[in-house]
Order: sequence, then structure tokens, then C-alpha cells
Amino acid sequence: MTSIAWIGLGNMGSRMSAHLVDAGHEVRGFDVVDAFREAAGARGIVPVGSVGEAVDGAEVVILSLPKGEHVRAVLAGDGGVFAHAAPGTLILDTSTVDLETSAWSHSESRSRGFRFVDSPVSGGIQGAEAATLAFMLGGESADVEAATAIVTPMAGNVLAVGEATHGIAAKLVNNMMLGVSILAMSEGATLAKHLGLDAQSFFDVARVSSGDSWAVRTWYPVPGVVPGAAANANFDASFSAMLCHKDVELAVAGAAAAGVEVPAATLIRDQLQRLLDDGFGGKDCTLVIREASPDGTVDGWDGR
Ligand code: NAD
Repeated sequence: MTSIAWIGLGNMGSRMSAHLVDAGHEVRGFDVVDAFREAAGARGIVPVGSVGEAVDGAEVVILSLPKGEHVRAVLAGDGGVFAHAAPGTLILDTSTVDLETSAWSHSESRSRGFRFVDSPVSGGIQGAEAATLAFMLGGESADVEAATAIVTPMAGNVLAVGEATHGIAAKLVNNMMLGVSILAMSEGATLAKHLGLDAQSFFDVARVSSGDSWAVRTWYPVPGVVPGAAANANFDASFSAMLCHKDVELAVAGAAAAGVEVPAATLIRDQLQRLLDDGFGGKDCTLVIREASPDGTVDGWDGR
């Protein structure tokens, strides 16, 4: 049994932390939202009233926070992890953050005698619930090995990607590729329709041909073709435009810093931004198909 502090009990953290309880660990959890602490209590987490209380005496600290700024505040802020955790504590950040925050988290942790592993996840809320997430770990190999043992009860796959920040780099590049796949799929599905093709017939071609992709197989953006696609349910989110935009935006920023040209990723980032600007950030990311529509209408979407 390991004593674990969990900070951030939202959509992902509430579900992931419960698997650690089921695996026999003692988990103390903190979230700034009272209701989330109470709900975590019902799933076996010991709810506490501050970051300090959660990390006091913990061997492992795990973060599941919205953005880099929250991670920096929880680690280094007054009453934060650095101020309360014991030296040698293993800190895992499962949040999707910018590369600079991840590098900062590694160096600031190391300089204070903590061990840090960037540990972003893929698989969404369903993967968090079913304990099938893919974890991408970056850090010193001994720390990654220790992290692997901790995250395994929450994971379908645990991938030791490389050194510090390589986990988050892999996550951002992967999600950037997903964004570009969605762009290609949206344009393809729309052009197929306007060339008179039946959606199912074209899908059957693309599925076994070179237009195939994970996005096509899982999220084909026309109603009645792929079970589970958001197009079947008025584009209610399975992966929201807001979260997709965040990930692509972070990847585009990483590309700019590295001097890499990513025009396709920039285009899908801007299309997602327009969904956010129009108040559709909570809708599914595949609603970007509206950008290819000659008249702005989308099959399966009521326009609201
Ligand atoms: P969420 O907003 O539901 O959860 C984040 C939680 O952090 C919230 O409950 C919030 O109250 C809490 N929080 C914020 N500041 C805090 C602080 N100072 N102290 C304690 N708690 C604080 O987000 P989520 O969907 O659970 O995602 C968490 C992270 O995982 C994000 O970085 C996200 O990008 C990443 N992620 C999400 C998904 C997904 O499908 N939802 C998939 C993969 C990765």
C-alpha cells in the first residue's frame, strides 16, 4: 500500500483516483470544489481541505489539473506541494500542459529534492472510468519505473517514452495529429456528400483504403455511419472542441518554439477557435465539419 495525494478531482481525476483506492492504496484527495471532494469521498478517497493536508506524509503526489498555470500554482504556490511534501516524494502530473510548464516542473522539483515524471494520459473520460488509459511517461528511468507501478491500476497501456518532458511531448504531437486527421475527415466527408456519394458507401471505401484513420473509424462525422460518433447525437461532445483546441494549441506553440512548420495544425486550431468563439466549445470537436459546408448546415446538427 502506498500513501498517495491526489490533487484535482474533476472529470478525469475523480475516476482515475478511485482505481488507486480499488488497488489498495490510501488516497487523500483535494479539489477546490467542495462538491467534487464529497463525491470523491463516496468513491473511497479520503477528502481533505487543502493541498498541504493531502501531501503531508504522502509518498506519491498525483496532479490532474486543467492547465499549466494551475500546475505551477499547486506545486510552487503558498501552501503547495513543494512547501509540504517530504523530500524524495514522487510527483506525477497527468494534466495536459505546455512543454515549458513540464520542463519547469521537472527542474523545480529536482532542485528541491523531489522526483517528477510527466505522465499525461490519452483515452478520455471513458478510459479513466474503465482504467484503460494510455499513460506516456517522461523522466529519469528509475522514477519512470516507480511511476509505472503506481499508474498501472488506471492504465490499459503504460509507455515509457523517454526523458523529462517526452511524455507530454508525445501527448501533444499525438493530439495534433488527431486534429489534422479530423480536418482531413471533415473535408473528405463533405466533398463525398456533395459529389453525390452515399455516406455509408464512401465510408466503406475509405475504411479499407488509404483515406482510413482512427478518426474515420471512430468519429465519422455523418449520422448513422459509425456507432458512438458524435454525429449520431447532435454533436454532443465525446471529445469537446474546447479540449481538442487546447491540445492542438499547445502543440502549435511547441512547434513554433522548435521552428517546425505546422500549417495544417494551425488551420484546425483556428477552426476549433471559431467553434469556441461561436459558443460551441462544449460541442464535439468533429463539429468543425461545418467549416466545409457550403451553406453552414451540418447533417445531424440542429445548429444550436
Ligand atoms: P476538469 O476541469 O474536469 O478537472 C480539473 C479539476 O482541477 C477541477 O475539478 C478543478 O476544480 C480542479 N482544480 C483547479 N485548480 C485547482 C487547485 N488549485 N487545487 C485543486 N484542484 C484544482 O478537467 P479534466 O477533464 O478532469 O482534465 C484534467 C486534465 O487532464 C486536463 O489537463 C486535461 O487536458 C487532461 N485530459 C483530459 C481528458 C478528457 O477527456 N477530459 C483526456 C486526456 C487528458
